[in-house]
Amino acid sequence: MAVTNTPKKHLSVVGAPLAIHGPATEAAPHAEPLTAPPVAAETGTTGMAHPDTLRQVGPLTRLVLGDDWKQRLRTRRSLMGGFNYLVFIVLLNLAARYGWLPEVPVHQVSFVLLAMVAAFYTLLRSGLNRQFADPSLTMPQMLLPATVTAWVYTFGGPLRDGVLLMLAPVLLFGFRNLRPGKVRLLSGYVLALMGGVMVWLVHTDPQNHDMGGELVRFMLVAVVVVTLWQYTSNDTEESSGVLHALGVMLFTDDARQRLRIQRYMMAAANFVICTIVLAYAVSTGAVEARLGWWLGCYMMANVGVFYALLRSGLNLHFADPSLTLPQIMVALTCVVWSYAILGESRGAALILLALILMFGMFNLTAKQTRMAAFFALCSQGLTMLFMATLAPDRYPVRQEMVNFLFACTSLPTISVLSGQLSTLRHRLQSRKDELAEALARIQTLATRDELTGLFNRRHMMETLALQKKFSDKGGRIFCIGILDIDHFKHVNDTHGHGVGDEVLRHFAQHAQSVMRDSDVIARWGGEEFLLMLTDCRLDQAEAGLERLREVINAAPMADTIPGLRVTFSSGLTEQRYEETIDQTIERADQALYRAKRGGRNRTVAG
Ligand code: GH3
Ligand code: MG
Ligand code: MG
Repeated sequence: MAVTNTPKKHLSVVGAPLAIHGPATEAAPHAEPLTAPPVAAETGTTGMAHPDTLRQVGPLTRLVLGDDWKQRLRTRRSLMGGFNYLVFIVLLNLAARYGWLPEVPVHQVSFVLLAMVAAFYTLLRSGLNRQFADPSLTMPQMLLPATVTAWVYTFGGPLRDGVLLMLAPVLLFGFRNLRPGKVRLLSGYVLALMGGVMVWLVHTDPQNHDMGGELVRFMLVAVVVVTLWQYTSNDTEESSGVLHALGVMLFTDDARQRLRIQRYMMAAANFVICTIVLAYAVSTGAVEARLGWWLGCYMMANVGVFYALLRSGLNLHFADPSLTLPQIMVALTCVVWSYAILGESRGAALILLALILMFGMFNLTAKQTRMAAFFALCSQGLTMLFMATLAPDRYPVRQEMVNFLFACTSLPTISVLSGQLSTLRHRLQSRKDELAEALARIQTLATRDELTGLFNRRHMMETLALQKKFSDKGGRIFCIGILDIDHFKHVNDTHGHGVGDEVLRHFAQHAQSVMRDSDVIARWGGEEFLLMLTDCRLDQAEAGLERLREVINAAPMADTIPGLRVTFSSGLTEQRYEETIDQTIERADQALYRAKRGGRNRTVAG
C-alpha cells in the first residue's frame, strides 16, 4: 500500500485510456525518403494512394522506371543525379578541350561517373537494391560525388575553387535525404577526404599548392560541415550501431555531459586550427620552429586535458561543470604566448584576445568576466614588457606601449559590455525561474486542497470523467466511495477548530497511505472525502475501506490530544455503464446516509 495522490501516480491512472486509445505519434523530421503508403491497385496491399500513382503512368515510363511506384521514385531520383553528372562531365571535357584541365584524368573521371550511373540504374531497375538496409541507396549515391569531387580537386589546378563549390550541393542533398547520423558521417567523410587531399597536394606539388591557400579552402569546407552538424546535433537517438557506439564513447550517454563535451569540441577545433596556422607560420619562417613547437604542444595538451576532464566526469566537482572560466584563461595564455613568438604579425593575436573575452558573455558572471579581462591585460602587459626588454629590435618599446594602450582601452570595454550582457542573461533566467515556479503554484492551487494536500473536488470530477470514458471503452470497472467523519462537529466544539483541522490532515494522510497506488482520493468538502477505487468490484472495494477503517479507528488523530480517536461512515457504489458519474455519486451519498442512520462507523454498499 503506497501513496495515492501524487500527481504522477494520478496521471498514470487517468492517462491510461489516452495511452491506449490516443493516436500513435510518429516524429520523423528526417525520415528516409519514400515512406508514403503503398497503393492497393498497384501493390495489392491496402493504404492511401501516393500522388504519383494517381497520375497515369505511360508505358515508356514503366519501361524505364519500372512498375512499382516506390522503385520508380528511387530510380527517378537516381537518374536525376545522373543527369547532373552528365552536365558535370560535359563541363569537365570542355575544360579539358580548352586546355584548362589535363585530358587523361578528365576522361578517367568521366568514365567512372558514367559507369557508376549505369551501375546504380541497374541495381535499382533490377530490384537488387531491395537487398540493402536502405533500398534508396542514398548514402552510396552521396559518397560517390563527394569522392569524385575530391578526385577532380587533385588535378583541378586553378579551377579547383569551382570544383570545391560542388561539395555544397552534395552536402545539402545529403542533409535533405539522409538521417542525421548519416549526415554527420557524410560530412565527416568529406572533411577527412578533403583534408587528406589538401595535405597530399601541398606535400607533392608545393609549387601550385601553397599551405595558406589550401588552409583557407579547408576552413571553408569545415565551416559548411560544422554548420550542417549544428543543425543535426539535436538528434541522437536516430544514429544507430557503430555510430551510436562511437558517439557514446566520445561524448558519454549522459545528455548534459554530452552537450558540454560537444560545446567544448568547438573550442578544441579552434585550438587545432590555431595549431595548423602556427605550423604554417613555422613553415614560412615567421616563427622559430622550436618556439612554435612548444606552443603547439601546449595547445594540444590543453585540448587533451580538458577533454579528459569532461569525459571522465571530473568536471562535475566544480561549481561550473562547463569549466568556462578555466577554458577562457587557458585560451588567453595561448594567445599571449603566441603574441610573444609571432614577431611581425603579432597584431592578429590582440584581436584573438578580444574574441576570447567575448565568449565569456554567454557563460560567465559579470565578476568572472572582469577577472578574465584583468588577467588578459596583466599577462599581455607583462609579456610586452618582457619582450620589449628581451628583444627590443623586434618588439620596440614604443610600439608595445601603443599596443598596450589599445589593449587597455578595448579589453575593459569588452569586459564591461559582456558583464552587462551576462547580468541581463541572469536576470532573464531568474525571471524565467520565477514564472515557472508561479505556474507550478497555480497548478497546485487549481488542483489541490490547501488544508490536506489532497486533490480538490473540481480535479476529482475531471478524473472521474476520464476514468468513466476509459471504463466505457472496455476498461475495468471502478467504485466510488464517499467517506464522512462521524460527529466531527463535536471534535470542533470540544477541542477547537485547529484540532479539527489537524484531524482532517491526519485522516487524509492515513487514507493516502492505506489505499492502493491506483486509487485516487480527494477532499470533497468539509469533513467528507471521495475515493475512486479503480479496477475492482464492490466487495474488493469494501474490503479496502474496512482496512482503512481499522487504521483510522486505531490511529491517534491529533498530536496534542493523544486519546483523540475518530470513526467514519461511508457509502460505496460501483460505477455502472448506463449511469452518469453524478448519478453514481448520488447513490453513494444515499448509501452514506443509510450508514449514518444505521449507527455510523460502517460502510454501506449502494
Ligand atoms: P455526522 O456524524 O452526522 O457526520 O456529524 P458531523 O458533526 O460530522 O456532521 P456535520 O455536518 O453536522 O458537521 C460537520 C462539521 O465539520 C461542521 C463544520 O464546522 C466542520 N468543518 C467543515 N469544514 C471544516 C474544516 O475545514 N475544518 C474544521 N476544523 N472543521 C470543518
Ligand atoms: Mg458531513
Ligand atoms: Mg460528519
